[in-house]
Amino acid sequence: MSDLEKIRFLRQQVEYHRRKYYLEDAPEISDAEFDRMYRELEELEKAHPEFHDENSPIYRVGGVALDKFQKHIHTVPLKSLSDVFSFGELEEFLSRTAGCGNYTVEKKIDGLSVALIYKDGRFVSGATRGDGAVGEDVSGNLRTIASIPMTIPYTGYLEVRGEVYMPKASFEKLNAQRENAGEPLFANPRNAAAGSLRQLDPKVTAKRNLDILVFNLQKCDRSFETHAQTLDFISSCGFHVLDYRVAQNKEEVEEEIEAIGRERQGLSFDIDGAVVKINDLAMREKIGEGTNVPKWAVAYKFPPEQKPTKLLSIEVQVGRTGVLTPAANLVPVNLAGSTVSRATLHNIDNIREKDIRVGDTVVIQKAGDIIPEVVCSVKDEAHFARLVYEMPAVCPSCGEKVIRIEGESKTMCTNSACPAQRQRSIEHFASKDAMNIEGLGPAAVKALLDSRLISTISDLYTLEEGQLISLERMGKKSAENLLSSIEKSKEAGLARLIYALGIPNVGEKAGKALAKVYGDIERLFCATKEEISAIEDFGAVTAECVVSYFSHPQTRMLIEGLKKAGVKTKEEPVEKGGAFEGKTFVLTGTLPTLKRAQAGALIEQLGGKTSSSVSKLTDYVLAGEEAGSKLTKAQSLNIPIIDEETFLEMIEKAKEQSKNAD
Ligand SMILES: [Zn+2]
Repeated sequence: MSDLEKIRFLRQQVEYHRRKYYLEDAPEISDAEFDRMYRELEELEKAHPEFHDENSPIYRVGGVALDKFQKHIHTVPLKSLSDVFSFGELEEFLSRTAGCGNYTVEKKIDGLSVALIYKDGRFVSGATRGDGAVGEDVSGNLRTIASIPMTIPYTGYLEVRGEVYMPKASFEKLNAQRENAGEPLFANPRNAAAGSLRQLDPKVTAKRNLDILVFNLQKCDRSFETHAQTLDFISSCGFHVLDYRVAQNKEEVEEEIEAIGRERQGLSFDIDGAVVKINDLAMREKIGEGTNVPKWAVAYKFPPEQKPTKLLSIEVQVGRTGVLTPAANLVPVNLAGSTVSRATLHNIDNIREKDIRVGDTVVIQKAGDIIPEVVCSVKDEAHFARLVYEMPAVCPSCGEKVIRIEGESKTMCTNSACPAQRQRSIEHFASKDAMNIEGLGPAAVKALLDSRLISTISDLYTLEEGQLISLERMGKKSAENLLSSIEKSKEAGLARLIYALGIPNVGEKAGKALAKVYGDIERLFCATKEEISAIEDFGAVTAECVVSYFSHPQTRMLIEGLKKAGVKTKEEPVEKGGAFEGKTFVLTGTLPTLKRAQAGALIEQLGGKTSSSVSKLTDYVLAGEEAGSKLTKAQSLNIPIIDEETFLEMIEKAKEQSKNAD
């Protein structure tokens, strides 16, 4: 057997046994045997890069990481459906389509729609729904989903649509891990699935245990008469297909929807409704499509799930800006796919209006992305014997008297030294979209504040390894990592810094706009209200907040501290007529000393651009170790390939030249 034959044989064997193990739960060989076979394949593939195949089972654990996703234009648009919320509305649809034959009724999975494309019996690519017309190519991530076949028996063109989801059990596990690691939690399985599928590194996706159910044939060389036939065909190709029932009339449709509703709780994945479609494909053509939605189908949406539970206590939390928010501590209940033990009560007016008292039986619900909320309380005899709830008169964190804002439902602590506010503002400063300091989650911030190692944001930049190691649960490795991400945050840039400061009303977008207009934090100290309100999308209130923030002496002290620490407080000007102006670079592989982001920043400083894919328009490919397909492509297009050393020389030369020109 030649090496190529051997590789082909092993690929087929590994894929077969992997399916037996993961999908059918019926392994035919031992784990050790499988591992041996897998490693042999891995080694052979390594020795023979010329036989590279992206569909090889070794990429099931995640292939090469990307800089960004490529756009994917859908051949058949991935439309959404019109929603109905009651049997009354459903009956309108059914009577409008009476005489169009029978219907299929399917579960509506609460996940993420994707299109999968096959040619010559092989998986070619897959993309997210996006806006329905254009999505993102997430092929590498889809390859990590065990139930997506890489080869199918049908060899014509085939495009199917499915819903990628995270099973409830995997979601619970993932959130538990994230909680331990101090990372933000996902609100629900759908968000978790979306976040996992849109990872640039497929190895991360591979660990998230995503699954897919296919529910529609988008395009195929073969023709069919009914939707049910297409589903059976897709199933015969080896896909996991959503089960369906054919219903003859209104009664059967409603019966099936009710049955799905009863099944909902016990399913391993989240659903948010049922889909009713006309089964006859020719009939669908005749009825046609609306501008955004087909006229031959509707989605029946289940009402948000509600559950009764007991309100154990009301806890008041102090936010970053000093607003006091009451939250309900509940006896844990399982609601819409996750365990809920806390729910928001919004504010005191809401509590009064619903007359919610500690000890009451309350009804909670979770609708979409919204955090669970208390809908109402049960007004039984015991309820009236309980105390009417009052907000605390003093801040639960600092003990200062709180104030009630006239005309608003807000209760606030205005003490600028309030520990809770301090904690929240440092958490915000470090958060991913702000300065992105990894390892500085709520637990770490609390430990640093409690041990008095820091009291303000700028203190973060004076931390030393010895101090960190003295903290509980902080090892040498995590101390080093934390210090290096604090160091890295100095380069976060002005836009992120402005957002990170936590100025009331100034979000990420406003931070970017201010950075663009002012370019230097110093200029913000003398910015006027009129100037700021003239910026697009800025109102008088936000302008007022910005001016007031920069008028505080504490702000001056804070910024001085940050500057002294070396935090970047200016936008780096792009050199006009820079040496790389008009040049496009593609970065690939691991460079010996530079991080990709650093190399990218250097290119941009000199007026160049970076792109994630090699094309005829690419001027240079900067390649490091383990450069993959981009390198091969560059070679085939005769594009100059440079290494880090050459790259740095080019920069040196450019600097020399601009010096001489001065
Ligand atoms: Zn306070």
